[in-house]
Amino acid sequence: MESLLLEGALLKTSKKEIRVSFFSLGCRLNQSESASLASGFLSEGFCVVEEEAPADIHVINTCSVTHEAETKCRGLIRRLLKKRPETFIAVTGCYAQAGLHALQQVPGIDLIVGTDHKMDLPLLIQQAWGGERPLKRSAPLVIHTQKINRGDFTIPSYAAFDHATRPNIKIQDGCDFFCSFCIIPYTRGRERSRQFNDILMEASLWAARGHREVVLTGVNLGEYRSDGKGLSDVIAALEKIEGLSRIRISSIEPTTVSDDLLDQMSRAKKLCPYLHLPVQSGNNAVLSAMGRRYTREEYMRFVAKAAERVPALGLGTDVMVGFPGEDDDAFGETVSLVSTLPFSYLHVFPFSERKGTRVTRMDLPPVPPQVIKKRVGILSEISKKCREAFYQNAVGQTVRVLFEAKDDRGYFCGYTPNYIRVGVKSAREIAGFILPVTVQHVEGGLAIGVVEEIP
Ligand code: SF4
Repeated sequence: MESLLLEGALLKTSKKEIRVSFFSLGCRLNQSESASLASGFLSEGFCVVEEEAPADIHVINTCSVTHEAETKCRGLIRRLLKKRPETFIAVTGCYAQAGLHALQQVPGIDLIVGTDHKMDLPLLIQQAWGGERPLKRSAPLVIHTQKINRGDFTIPSYAAFDHATRPNIKIQDGCDFFCSFCIIPYTRGRERSRQFNDILMEASLWAARGHREVVLTGVNLGEYRSDGKGLSDVIAALEKIEGLSRIRISSIEPTTVSDDLLDQMSRAKKLCPYLHLPVQSGNNAVLSAMGRRYTREEYMRFVAKAAERVPALGLGTDVMVGFPGEDDDAFGETVSLVSTLPFSYLHVFPFSERKGTRVTRMDLPPVPPQVIKKRVGILSEISKKCREAFYQNAVGQTVRVLFEAKDDRGYFCGYTPNYIRVGVKSAREIAGFILPVTVQHVEGGLAIGVVEEIP
């Protein structure tokens, strides 16, 4: 079927010419899912284009973790509609699940798809519009269920559109922990895991394409369970894949890290010596009100054990500042905890109240915004010092770096297994290579070094 262009309006087109672009907001899991969705659209015969390129359909994979994240989503939709009012807007992701009513009030959205049908989006559009370019609607079509499936899942389409050197592999979704501040169990539903063989198929495909590292992602990764297998079993199986040199786990709940996992890290075969263990607070009363499943003392004991078992462990954490009831003493305990433990960086987040979460029903005094701001500043300074000290330890050492891309100062940058960001000058294209680098000094958040063997 030929495209007919009449007075600037594309009236009819073959499906091959229907261009789809993706905007992914929020976490690594969303990035991984957007890449899978892009592959799904491609399999259905659509044409996938770059994010900002002119498109017939913009898919917006939203985030709902804070009010700011939701404001950003609405701002993006408005910006896109202003630029291209004729483009069909499909919104999915956590905001589509949790903020359906609010999104229905935003003019110009044509399709809203909640969590349970998110990965069906390519097929839905294909079937609903029968291969024709979807036209703008006066009100959005809504595909949304409150209940989200709990069964194990597969991801039938993946890998075509993740251009990252270190692609994300989604192995788990949802969470049953219900921390009092967190909206995720409501937006992504309860815990469920990806079928074991489906993970191996995707990882083998990445390895065959020459990717040396994969990053395992999920909402509550340590809760992976499928067919009697856990996270350690997934890692043991991935370690056998030829060509794959590194496996990294993204953020993991402290109480779900098994001894087997620490053993796998300490053997330094392929599992990177890297843990991102959200602590959130160093005060027991705050941890309890947050519904976290450990005390300050338990967290500290666990980190001491991990650091002892895993040499040169890269250790990151999330800290939430200004949770209701966090007084000066409680914040002081957080400062003392993060200053005592061997963190290589902190991610610091101000508390943001989410409607529907348990904390909204708790009778706790709010922390004034200016106090939160000050505390964020204090922890951000500590984070800078942690990173600097961790990187300084690597000076004089030869480390192995998986190179990704050049930064704006012209350094080729990449990461070591324990997540030190290293930069080198190289006239050769070295993206995708793992090379030995001797670190010489630390500058501007980067460990600068020289490559010992150019390929
Ligand atoms: S563990 Fe807590 S913070 Fe993490 S996703 Fe589950 S409920 Fe949210």
